[in-house]
Amino acid sequence: MKKDERLRGYHDEQLETLPWEEKKRLMEKQLQRAVLIAFEEAPAMREKFKAAGVGATDIRSLEDLQSLAITPKAQMRQLQQASPPFGGFLGVDLNKLRRIYTSPGAIFDPEGHQADYWRLQGVFFNTGFRPGDRVLNTFSYHLTPGGLMCDEALSGIGCTVVPGGIGNTETQVQLMEELKLTGYVGVPSFLQAIIERAEQEGKDFRRDFSLQIAVTAGEMLTAASRNRFEEDYGILVRQFLATADVGGIAYECGEKNGMHFADYRVIEVVDPETGRQLGPGQIGEVVVTLLENPVYPLIRFGTGDLSYYEEEPCHCGRTSPRLMKLVGRVDQVTKVRGMFIHPSQVEEVIAAFPEIQTAQAVVEREQDRDKLTFCAVLAEPSSQEGLASPLQEKIRAVLKLRADVTFVSENDIQEAEKRILDLRKWD
Ligand SMILES: [Zn+2]
Repeated sequence: MKKDERLRGYHDEQLETLPWEEKKRLMEKQLQRAVLIAFEEAPAMREKFKAAGVGATDIRSLEDLQSLAITPKAQMRQLQQASPPFGGFLGVDLNKLRRIYTSPGAIFDPEGHQADYWRLQGVFFNTGFRPGDRVLNTFSYHLTPGGLMCDEALSGIGCTVVPGGIGNTETQVQLMEELKLTGYVGVPSFLQAIIERAEQEGKDFRRDFSLQIAVTAGEMLTAASRNRFEEDYGILVRQFLATADVGGIAYECGEKNGMHFADYRVIEVVDPETGRQLGPGQIGEVVVTLLENPVYPLIRFGTGDLSYYEEEPCHCGRTSPRLMKLVGRVDQVTKVRGMFIHPSQVEEVIAAFPEIQTAQAVVEREQDRDKLTFCAVLAEPSSQEGLASPLQEKIRAVLKLRADVTFVSENDIQEAEKRILDLRKWD
């Protein structure tokens, strides 16, 4: 199949290209139904409404969601233990479930009987899989939902799935070669491991294998590794975001410029402290509300992932906003002058300058103002000249904050294992 054919077309053209304002109206109708089900069928959700002093009919718009608290993934284990097995979040009887999984952190995840329960069919079509693809699925097939949720969505759009599961690199290489598999689903590092193993066995991956498309999740896909897959091996690489609790959240289209919000869920990016919705470009927690899912009517589920979105039109014609990048986890953020910064952003700045051996962002409080200083240790102290201003520009681009730059020696860095050192005192 030609690459162009994978980049064109829609899974549900009408829905995906509906002008965003119209789509919001449609989502609000679905939201009103979801809220009613959550309120009536899920006791834990009803409690959340009561705590906020809000009735089921008070939530009419996407903005209205802000009056409800976030239910953080990090608290799910505790909530489930207090009210087993699903913490009072289930919208149906336990005997109406199709499967029950457990995901890391010992959280139970329900799956209902409805077709495309995890809403990944659209995700896989839009990232480039097509009917007739033979796909090696290397997510785990036991305990966690990853393997089965991808398996069923792929077969649902007409692909043939080889249930590889995790590990067994040698067998997976053999399957990929002998069955002339055209697709891969899994983490990027395992695809890398498969290619390396094939090459160690003296095979020419580009010539001897038929892999055309890889769709990855669960791990950071760096620009460098995507380039290697695409340029050196001719594999189209796209990524998506999903969790074991809510299924599909966002996916990359042909344009490879951020991940479109998936359908049948409300995606918010919120201030993790206040739960207020943030605008385009502002880093916050990704929060998900499931629509058309009476089994698990989650309203404002906090994924713990940090990201930011953009909403200018995408050339693919889809109208939903895009999550531009995953920045890290919410439990590692530090708030500076009203903006959240994450250790991975400091690492991104370091990686952009080969002259920098290591660095740490130091946050202090001076005259009731947050002061951010980027302390850089250079590999060669003499390379300092001319570096301060490009470094400052990069910091502003990545952290979206102004910082002072200072060059220090390795011994000057306190608690060197921390990329962000917060020295503010709040007493
Ligand atoms: Zn697009």
